[in-house]
Amino acid sequence: MAGYVGAIDQGTTSTRFMIFNHSGEEVAKAQLEHEQILPKAGWVEHDPIEIWERSRTVIEQALQRGGLKGSDLEAIGITNQRETTVVWDPNTGQPHHNAIVWQDTRTDRIASALEREGKGDVIRQKAGLPPATYFAAGKVQWLLENVDGLREKAENGQAIFGTIDTWVLWNLSGGVNGGVHMTDVTNASRTMLMNLETLDWDDELLGFFGIPRRMLPEIKSSSKVYAHTVAGGPVGAEVPIAGMLGDQQGAVVGQVAFTPGEGKNTYGTGNFFLLNTGNEIVRSKSGLLTTLGYKFGDEPAVYCLEGAIAVTGSAVQWLRDQLGLITDAAETEALSKQVDDAGGMYFVPAFSGLFAPYWRSDARGAMVGLARYHTKAHIVRATLESICWQSKEVADAMYKDSGVELEFLKVDGGAVVNDHLMQMQADILGVPVARPQVAETTALGSAYAAGLAVGFWSNKDEMRQNWLEDKRWEPQWDDAKRQEGYAGWKKAVERTFDWVD
Ligand code: ADP
Repeated sequence: MAGYVGAIDQGTTSTRFMIFNHSGEEVAKAQLEHEQILPKAGWVEHDPIEIWERSRTVIEQALQRGGLKGSDLEAIGITNQRETTVVWDPNTGQPHHNAIVWQDTRTDRIASALEREGKGDVIRQKAGLPPATYFAAGKVQWLLENVDGLREKAENGQAIFGTIDTWVLWNLSGGVNGGVHMTDVTNASRTMLMNLETLDWDDELLGFFGIPRRMLPEIKSSSKVYAHTVAGGPVGAEVPIAGMLGDQQGAVVGQVAFTPGEGKNTYGTGNFFLLNTGNEIVRSKSGLLTTLGYKFGDEPAVYCLEGAIAVTGSAVQWLRDQLGLITDAAETEALSKQVDDAGGMYFVPAFSGLFAPYWRSDARGAMVGLARYHTKAHIVRATLESICWQSKEVADAMYKDSGVELEFLKVDGGAVVNDHLMQMQADILGVPVARPQVAETTALGSAYAAGLAVGFWSNKDEMRQNWLEDKRWEPQWDDAKRQEGYAGWKKAVERTFDWVD
């Protein structure tokens, strides 16, 4: 079939626009980083205006690189860093504050108060999430309490909330000139405000955070025509915006994990391991999140269990930017291979506390087992191993909650170019690890959602056929080696607890 579908992937560190053909192959791409604003320890912000400008530029650049016009696109999908919170004035398009990023821990008091006041179980039951700094509602509450006059503005329509999907959609569909204020079920499921059963904002949950319903977007399915781009905008034509998925759910769709029991692990700033549980809401007893997987048009919603790990690829960035041990993330591969193991040391990068399966905001990072013997290569290796051990803990929790034994793991994300990391992951999990040919599954997933809504792809089987394996790694460790290493990891994790209040 002729024609193309575009996808904006607005990530934590960068924004991409990708154009795919009917076979799901990448035709053109442009990518730009944006500033990480770090005003205090634990605070992470983005400038929403910069994010929108980057989005505009990458759309224009990718179209130009592909020799295409906006009118060559049948539809556009949006996928995004989730939970990151923007509140803006719909009359001017100006944000009332920088976006508060998912990694930001300024709301730790809000999160712990919820638990103390016995509201934690209600949030777990209704929203599928434990109260944590990670999710959007606490960030909105913080803004309402700390930005002068914001509550009044929220009550009279001068301040509206959105996660980044909503911010990009509003701007792309015209902004102050008729931009639509909508989100999809997957992004809404990351707020602590949406009821997993009704797929609507829940008044009791809104009450916990003192958030006026008026400032919230409408919740829609992940695949439907929400609005059209405007001819005067970066696309330069009226193209249906027809897919929205949080980035991790985008990867589930891009990896065509459509059958219950299928899943994927994405290696980016953090790691996000999602398992499809079909139309069933599985409530975790093992520290996983219950989240929306996707909802295509009027079909019933598909749910997932999710193991969210806060710090994986960003620990590699820390080696590069803060310690100066490497100048490029790719160097970790050769350095780590210089040694056979981490020499008995472990690095637990609990920079933002620990997410799954622990949810300990009191944890902070630790390197343990250090000896005079250890070199830079051991530290690099321990950093890569920490990505794999954290994923192993999540895989175990998924087995406990769902009874589904992992047979092999589909992987994607920026760090899966590291073959050595993937081999270690197979060794540590004890199952094969498989990388698809199109590694940009996040963008592909939102393109699929958009293309499905306009009939560019007609069904899931068409997408399944597009999934082609690039490389597979078989585990080489024996069980004894795995068990020994795992016991050391668990001991190291315990050392990070109770570090802050
Ligand atoms: P995000 O979408 O979360 O911004 P990406 O999927 O682009 O992130 O992945 C980038 C992350 O992958 C960075 O944190 C980087 O440190 C890590 N990374 C990139 N290349 C490598 C590599 N060769 N080895 C290990 N980590 C890598």
